[in-house]
Amino acid sequence: MSVAPNIIWCERCNFETTTAVIWGVFKYRFSDGSEIQVERSAGWCSACNSIQPVEKSTDRSKLLKKYEDLQKELARLQKSFVRTLLKFDKREIADIKYECQEIEDQLRLLDVRRGPQRCLTCGSTEIAVIDLPSIGEEEIRKVDFCHPGCGGMLKIRKSHIRYSMNFPKKVYDVEGNRILEK
Ligand SMILES: [Zn+2]
Ligand SMILES: [Zn+2]
Repeated sequence: MSVAPNIIWCERCNFETTTAVIWGVFKYRFSDGSEIQVERSAGWCSACNSIQPVEKSTDRSKLLKKYEDLQKELARLQKSFVRTLLKFDKREIADIKYECQEIEDQLRLLDVRRGPQRCLTCGSTEIAVIDLPSIGEEEIRKVDFCHPGCGGMLKIRKSHIRYSMNFPKKVYDVEGNRILEK
C-alpha cells in the first residue's frame, strides 16, 4: 500500500518538507516492557530547524471527561440486549471500547511523565505544535504558522509522489527520549 503525503513549503525562501516525516509507528515503552501509542502532531522543532513529529500535550481533566462520556455511551448501548444484537451497535461498542483503552493508556503515561513535550526526532523541548489544515486535491492552503527566522508564510498542498507504508517502528521511554534499538 502507498499514500501521498502533503508538501509544506515557505513562500519566502526555499524551505520545503513533506508530512511523511510525521508518519510511522511511534511507541512509548514502559519499564515493564508494555507499549502504547505516542500521541503526536506536526510541530516546529528549533533544534532540527524543521517540521518534525512532536509529542502532543494531553490534558488529564479533558481525558477524564471524555472517558466518562464514553463510559455513559457504552452503558447506554449495552443496556438493551436487543440493541447489542444489531451489527451497527456491535461495531459502535467495539469502537468505544477501543477509544476507552486509548484514554486509559494516555492516563497511564500521564501518571509517570514529568518533563515537557519533545521533538520525536531529536528530543529537543524547543517545539511548537502546528495545526495542519486538511486539504483537497489541487488545493493550496495557508498553514497558520510563519517560518521561524524567515517570517514567510507556510503553505500546504498534496503531492503526487507516493510513499510505501513500510515504516520502521520508533520506540521512546515515557519521557519521550528515543530508545535506540540494537
Ligand atoms: Zn522561509
Ligand atoms: Zn528536533
